[in-house]
Amino acid sequence: MSLKINELCVNCDVCEPVCPNQAITQGADIYVIDPARCTQCVGHFDEPQCVVVCPVECIDPDPAYPESEPQLLAKLLRLQSAAHPDPAGDAPAVAPAASAGSDNAAPT
Ligand code: SF4
Ligand code: SF4
Repeated sequence: MSLKINELCVNCDVCEPVCPNQAITQGADIYVIDPARCTQCVGHFDEPQCVVVCPVECIDPDPAYPESEPQLLAKLLRLQSAAHPDPAGDAPAVAPAASAGSDNAAPT
């Protein structure tokens, strides 16, 4: 379940840097959580870090996004795949350009 910041937010900005998924941004009036990126910190921490640091306790579960822990983990894996789109495929396709010379450093 994604979390949601309510109107009690005082825009203190301490939650944004602690989010491991870059799910928190400053909205028009208060900070907002992108439900497509919030995993409740599953896979990173035991507790939602934004909730831990928020001084006014204005972050609640968002019932609009009911998700089980396996679903949250799957979301995290999707996020990580998107961030690193080359997850150890089959062919590295790295073709080092062979140098033409036989001896490289042979001062005469
Ligand atoms: Fe980010 Fe975790 Fe807060 Fe979700 S619960 S917004 S992943 S810090
Ligand atoms: Fe708002 Fe709480 Fe985040 Fe501060 S930590 S910006 S009060 S949601």
